[in-house]
Amino acid sequence: MFNLILFGPPGSGKGTQASRIAEKYNMAHISTGEIFRREIKNGTELGQRVKNIIEKGDLVPDILLIDILRSALEIDAKPGGVIFDGFPRTLPQAADLDILMIDLKQKVNLVLALEVNEEEVVKRLLIRAQQEGRKDDTEEVIRNRMAVYHKQTSPLIQYYEKQGKYKSIRGMGTIDEIFNGICQVIDKARG
Ligand code: ADP
Repeated sequence: MFNLILFGPPGSGKGTQASRIAEKYNMAHISTGEIFRREIKNGTELGQRVKNIIEKGDLVPDILLIDILRSALEIDAKPGGVIFDGFPRTLPQAADLDILMIDLKQKVNLVLALEVNEEEVVKRLLIRAQQEGRKDDTEEVIRNRMAVYHKQTSPLIQYYEKQGKYKSIRGMGTIDEIFNGICQVIDKARG
């Protein structure tokens, strides 16, 4: 089993790359953003609770994440391990994940960040807004998501550097180029 956190700002291409990694290495792809969008679409209680928060570009309260994650891990188990996409996003979430992994007799093996400059991510997100019509892809909300990323999520870099798990690669270029870069790092980490 190899458990990977794919890390990076909104629009860095985590979702696209995570799908491809999941297929190649037979891993479960857990995207908390996707889980929330599905809950909202299905009008569940959870969906109703998080809808406004997500549409503003703020983070869903940490307390809601851990149970969601635990059940996603149960439903989605794959022999290759897990890719976390969009989780953890805060220090308390990272601490919760460490505890959960101990519970499951597992560990996070690698935290791989996609480095993309801010201008590029805003551009990508605005294009996605036109294509997919995500309510949190308006320019104002995108700016807020970036600010939330810098304030609440980027401290995780240090957290995982201290654990010796953090690696970053260039997230610019073609999807194939980036995927190849990712696979090299994963293959090396898997030994
Ligand atoms: P992005 O493209 O911005 O990386 P995601 O699809 O991962 O977006 O998530 C969309 C929204 O869902 C986030 O802006 C946030 O409101 C909520 N969300 C997703 N994952 C988490 C999380 N781990 N903690 C809190 N909120 C989250």
